[in-house]
Amino acid sequence: MRKNILLINPYIEDFSAYDHFSKPLGLIWLSSYLKEHFNVYFINALNRLYQKVKFKPDGTGDFPKRKIPAPENLKDIPRDFKRYGIDEGLFLQKLKEIEKPDYIFITSGMTYWYTGIQYTISLIKEVYSNIPIFLGGIYATILPNHAKREIDCDYVIPNQNIDSVLDELEKLLGVNFTRELKLPDYEILGEYYYLPILTSTGCVFNCSYCIGHKLSSFKQFDPIIFAILIKNLKDKYGCKNFAFYDDALLVNSEKHVIPFLEKIIEYDLNINFYTPNGLHIKYLTPTIAKLMKKSGFVDIRLSLESIDEHFQVKKGNKTSKEEFKKAMEILYNAGFTKDNIKVYTLLNIPEADNTSIEKTMEWIYQNGGQPMLAFYSPIPGTKDFEKASKITPLDEPLFQNNTVYLYRSRFDMNYFQYLKTLENRFKKA
Ligand code: SF4
Repeated sequence: MRKNILLINPYIEDFSAYDHFSKPLGLIWLSSYLKEHFNVYFINALNRLYQKVKFKPDGTGDFPKRKIPAPENLKDIPRDFKRYGIDEGLFLQKLKEIEKPDYIFITSGMTYWYTGIQYTISLIKEVYSNIPIFLGGIYATILPNHAKREIDCDYVIPNQNIDSVLDELEKLLGVNFTRELKLPDYEILGEYYYLPILTSTGCVFNCSYCIGHKLSSFKQFDPIIFAILIKNLKDKYGCKNFAFYDDALLVNSEKHVIPFLEKIIEYDLNINFYTPNGLHIKYLTPTIAKLMKKSGFVDIRLSLESIDEHFQVKKGNKTSKEEFKKAMEILYNAGFTKDNIKVYTLLNIPEADNTSIEKTMEWIYQNGGQPMLAFYSPIPGTKDFEKASKITPLDEPLFQNNTVYLYRSRFDMNYFQYLKTLENRFKKA
């Protein structure tokens, strides 16, 4: 008889969280492999549909949330602390509705969200006290020892590479998984306002503040498979919005994104594409931009971070001021406007000159884009983490929260407010 596995996307505890195209892609990808041997169930503690929280037509928007007391060691942060996720009673009801699981798998995100996992497990244990719990995902990969110590689970799977995860699960579950590429199990999500798409893993750069390139090696999948997938998802679920989770979508474009976009155009799907992780400015060409416009890209995010040359060279060399200017010309020539182009400006990173934030925002606006502030959060295992640790203690994952770091690194909050006003002004102008 097939055993049952329950997959859970846990609660988040933070000062702020928002569904900007955030779905647990790793978990639903794993589900495709697990289904070879198990009955798989899924509970998304962040699912707004369970609780009728309003959201935008593209599927982004608020999570269900409520204020909770901040942990004692965060009491100095003058902001409301919240738990994001459905009502406790609803979660318990969902747990009781499904067939009793033999194993429970929980995913994880930011390191400083671990208390949300603890809370999720405390609810699970109210219903199922003796079922083995596996913890995977980003936090489990970055801080496995902390997870083993602090999370009441039976196994921590510290890996983001699907083959390595399957290797480990084979040993623990006593089954053999197929190793050919499977596509994510979108069916299990149960909501299709937008769907996440990942056509490649890893990144070709090595930025000092980012962990992406360390979590997975750079690998591109056959792009045509993903064009067909998108067509099928549109046909099956009527999904119109697709968000790329790739960190390096434009790399090797002749063999990757160009054939993908040509195929999408051939299918004439009338869909929208979003790039929440940002695109590499360096690799944008007139051909790519024209194909992006024709295939339905509506929200283009570019990762500029700063126009300060010292910053660019020191932090990863992923682009320059001139490349950005050229990319903007290319996008405008392809028919995009300011409303479509949002450009990330990184705030509060160690050793960066904070006065350059304002100059960067102005440069973005002058060249036709909308500046968007992104708040640095220190990630263990990155070069900048060591530098940030000298500014304020970061040994406790809760201190790695971008809001906490913002306050404790003594960022000038008046200047911060001014930057937020500037961001708003550029957006409306
Ligand atoms: S380019 Fe982006 S994804 Fe790649 S290492 Fe740098 S910040 Fe990370």
